[in-house]
Amino acid sequence: MQVAAGKSVQGGVAVGPLRVYRREETPFCRFSSLTPAEEWARFRSACGRAREELAGLCEKARDELGEDNAAIFEIHRMMLEDEDYLDAVKDMTGSQSATAEYAVRAAGERFSAAFAAMEDEYMQARAADVMDVSRRVADILTGRRDAFTEDGGPAILAADDLSPSETVQLDRSRLLGLVLRRGSRSSHTAILARAMNIPALVGVDFDESWDGKPAALDGDQNRVYIDPTPEILAAMEARRREDRQQTALLQELKGRPGVTLDGREIPVYANAGSAGDLELALENDAQGIGLFRSEFLYLNSQDYPTEEQQFRLYRQAAEAMAGKRTVIRTLDIGADKQAGYFRLEKEANPALGYRAIRICLTRKELFKTQLRAILRASAFGSVSILFPMIISVEEVREARAILEECRLELRRQGAAMGDVEIGVMIETPAAVMIAGELAEEADFFSIGTNDLTQYTLAIDRQNPKLDRFYDPRHPALLRMIRHTVEAGHRHGCRVGICGELGADPALTETFLRMGVDELSVSPAAILPLRKQIRGIDLSVTA
Ligand code: PEP
Ligand code: MG
Repeated sequence: MQVAAGKSVQGGVAVGPLRVYRREETPFCRFSSLTPAEEWARFRSACGRAREELAGLCEKARDELGEDNAAIFEIHRMMLEDEDYLDAVKDMTGSQSATAEYAVRAAGERFSAAFAAMEDEYMQARAADVMDVSRRVADILTGRRDAFTEDGGPAILAADDLSPSETVQLDRSRLLGLVLRRGSRSSHTAILARAMNIPALVGVDFDESWDGKPAALDGDQNRVYIDPTPEILAAMEARRREDRQQTALLQELKGRPGVTLDGREIPVYANAGSAGDLELALENDAQGIGLFRSEFLYLNSQDYPTEEQQFRLYRQAAEAMAGKRTVIRTLDIGADKQAGYFRLEKEANPALGYRAIRICLTRKELFKTQLRAILRASAFGSVSILFPMIISVEEVREARAILEECRLELRRQGAAMGDVEIGVMIETPAAVMIAGELAEEADFFSIGTNDLTQYTLAIDRQNPKLDRFYDPRHPALLRMIRHTVEAGHRHGCRVGICGELGADPALTETFLRMGVDELSVSPAAILPLRKQIRGIDLSVTA
């Protein structure tokens, strides 16, 4: 048995084979020793397999993200049938004696450059698609499939690092646990692991040769065991039984309010980023969605999501919540959350860069598309809008003015809309310091402790080396939260927490004593938090 240690992102245990996720490209041969007919046959067979994969992805995307998002996989499939593309590959495998993998990559690059040079924006966006599908075929040909695009059963995934967009594309139903070599505890990938409620460790120096070996992951004891002994397996099984019992006990809290012993009700909402999370929110009896990270729709798309696509998802969220509050945060892209088609420039300090509301206020049409979709969805439930990364009153006023413009346009078009509350995320020290003024512009505040910690402590939340310094319980943070609550309340503004700190049971009582009105946490944290709240008596002096 071998053991590796890491830092826990999410507790719990998992037992299953470890799969190493590889993204790096290994070089492949240009010239083939096979005949052109044999190379062509290899290519056709890889295309067949790619088409099967694309059909599966299409179905998955249709279920999870709707018809429009599924269409992209259909486009990929059609590209594999394009005659010019096929001729280019055939020519290289024939006259140039190229291997099929070389030919398909070269054809992909050539067609991609041609698409990129086109005037039409839609066609330009296809450049990435033709590269993507060519890479898929080349990967099949070289056998270099990453663990999770390969067919197979459930597994513990080990990866160097995963970007948020890679994480959202993983097949959740097969993901038993996550082991990352890099990645910090406060990164978005870590947040996604918590949302999926799977045991996860970061900072694990795993060995590539462990790929396929039996493993046991202990998210509470920060360990991953390879070829675990029968004793370890028995201990894991016992822990699993315990976890199941705990979960069963928590089920009894469903349908009961999150009320303190002295009668103060604290709504606990769910953080969500996808249609799948909505189900988790319902399963865990969320009192609504307190933070819908809309950028995950953008990260999961190959191109800018249209108003219709967005409308459908937001409407689905509002309807799923059946009248319960549904807070949709406007696009918070940039920094670690990158979508290729945005073509954002590389920045020296991306966390301090062109992101979130800064992009929306400079790309008004992009912003309006989203705001129109949210306003239209507001006819189907109780929808609120939340603006991220705010640093000034002017930004909120400008965002509100654009929202008003959208509302007028929609009204003229006869679209139905509901009342929409406006929230401001408090995640920069600037927002904390001017919370009083911001409260005049907003109906509610949502404190984003993940970024507020990063910007207050001057610590990049993505940098795993700084994990030991990244302390969201730092007194500076707690004072900022207190200041925000007091300033918000003075101006009639409700104040909630939607950052990860909101789920920290050691701080629940502190937050309630500060006057925090509501909490929004990952779905799996809802019932434990409700239990915590129901045990607190605020009438007793601390
Ligand atoms: C936060 O910063 O606390 C927050 C909730 O937003 P995100 O984690 O998506 O940046
Ligand atoms: Mg944030």
